[in-house]
Amino acid sequence: MAVLLIAEDDEDIALVLVRVFKRTGMTVLRESDGRAAFDAILEHRPDLVLTDLGMPVMDGWELIDAIRGHPDDDIRRIPVAVLSGHLRPGEPRAASAQICAIMLKPCPNDQLLATMGELVAIGPHDHDAADNRCPADIPVSV
Ligand SMILES: [Zn+2]
Repeated sequence: MAVLLIAEDDEDIALVLVRVFKRTGMTVLRESDGRAAFDAILEHRPDLVLTDLGMPVMDGWELIDAIRGHPDDDIRRIPVAVLSGHLRPGEPRAASAQICAIMLKPCPNDQLLATMGELVAIGPHDHDAADNRCPADIPVSV
């Protein structure tokens, strides 16, 4: 069964997310800042990462860069989805950060589950070297 790491600093949102994904049978790990999340990723090697963008210590952008820049394939190729409450349309980092899916808060649970289910199905992968396109090709909801 898939292991999901959630990086989310809002306690209320994190509780809901953990409950929603645990109900599907996933093992869910949760950290409340990017640095703690990255440490947990190195230790537990989750199958999936779902991250907020605005977080203390190390934000979601830095977390994604740390994952994608890691020399170990097992870390670098983990599917990463973003769940954010304040992502501006056309944010240039969204196109360059090798994100597999972007969802905006509040995101319906069925969309969250469907998106993460697709990423479990596709598994670890690289993005296109030229344009960062994700092979999962999930429509961006921004
Ligand atoms: Zn991807």
